[in-house]
Amino acid sequence: MKIAMIGTGYVGLVTGTCFAELGNNVICVDNDIAKIEKLKSGIIPIYEPGLDEMVKKNCDAKRLSFTSDIKDAVKVSSIIFIAVGTPPKENGEADLSSVEKVSSIIADVMTEYKLVVGKSTVPVNTGKWIKKTINLRNTKGVNFDVASNPEFLREGSAIDDFLRPDRIVIGVESERAKNILTELYKPIDAPILVTDIESAEIIKHASNSFLATKISFINAISVICERAGADVIQVAEGMGLDKRIGKHFLNAGAGFGGFCFPKDLGAFIKIAENLGYDFKLLKAVSEINDEQKKAIVKKVKENVWNLGGKTVGVLGLSFKPNTDDIRYAPSIDILRDLISEGAKIRVYDPKAMERTKEIFSDITYCDNPYEVCDGSDALVILTEWDEFKKLDLKKVKKLLRTAVIIDGRNIFEPETLRKMGFVYTGIGRK
Ligand code: NAD
Repeated sequence: MKIAMIGTGYVGLVTGTCFAELGNNVICVDNDIAKIEKLKSGIIPIYEPGLDEMVKKNCDAKRLSFTSDIKDAVKVSSIIFIAVGTPPKENGEADLSSVEKVSSIIADVMTEYKLVVGKSTVPVNTGKWIKKTINLRNTKGVNFDVASNPEFLREGSAIDDFLRPDRIVIGVESERAKNILTELYKPIDAPILVTDIESAEIIKHASNSFLATKISFINAISVICERAGADVIQVAEGMGLDKRIGKHFLNAGAGFGGFCFPKDLGAFIKIAENLGYDFKLLKAVSEINDEQKKAIVKKVKENVWNLGGKTVGVLGLSFKPNTDDIRYAPSIDILRDLISEGAKIRVYDPKAMERTKEIFSDITYCDNPYEVCDGSDALVILTEWDEFKKLDLKKVKKLLRTAVIIDGRNIFEPETLRKMGFVYTGIGRK
């Protein structure tokens, strides 16, 4: 099938490449000309395991190409995915101006049937707006369908998530759209749930909000554990063995981040508000997440007292391992708070330092975790990269000025570290 993927970010680039891998002809479009130029010369603008090889393979096979000319891409494609960003506005609502812009361009250039599929995460009823926008400009009366196909991939394991998903959700209002999309996804071995467009849109927001709720729930439990002298790891294990609860997303830590959970939660709260429902539960989820980030700074202060003039070493900047994405990462808020308390910062992240330099220019970026430890008064772990789990802790202890570790991702065993002479604080641990 001939596909145009409009928006070549984390989602557009991965899904476009995977559709090409499945044998389709895919043109990935973006209005960021520099990004497209990079891609054309073989440079992948994001870090995602396995993506560079797959992009190269499909470009070589002439199934995948890149352009900044959206009109040309729409003209030659029968399925047009919209995968542009839907960032939050000041009030938390999703900014849909890019979705609208793209819909208008599609309407202006289409001369034959097009299936326009929303892949970006959007508020319920966006499909209706896309249809309305296209209809307004579709003076020639060209036949088209709108569908919703929310994306559930996770950065860091995006290719595998796309090719081996738990489910595929297709929101449609015509048999023709349903047939095209079920055919497109045929090579993927996963249940396909066909719904109306509004339900598909809500499934995405409801799923992300539910996962965020699970994280904030266990983070709230971690506070109870700390106060009561219990261990959140044991509590989570005991809860997770119950099949109705499940063990995933029960890891207490420094809070969730990334381009999905915080903004989707905010958008869903706003969607509910616009529909006349006060989604108090989700407001609490968001508050707990903010408190969790603040708690890290508090734990540092509780251990080293005044931060003015002290050096805090930070390991991990990306919102989770195996990605270079720092959008809404807890590290950003935590670094800001540490800096405003007067701390000097030394940081290391295997992939996310370049992006972080655009936000914090005057902190010290180190080449490895040991350089971070050298002369630091405390070491804070904010991302559970495997590399950090394998640290030579004897070396770490020697390099730190005071052997204080605040483990924001519970990657170490408290007892082991305390036996080694560290002052160790995890999240919700004894
Ligand atoms: P991104 O910012 O990485 O990519 C969006 C891309 O769209 C950018 O490259 C941008 O230049 C491009 N763009 C914006 N306006 C455009 C226009 N008018 N024409 C052409 N290109 C345009 O964002 P992302 O992480 O890929 O997310 C995209 C959507 O998918 C969002 O709605 C997000 O919530 C959703 N989503 C993201 C993830 C994830 O893990 N990142 C997972 C599932 C769903």
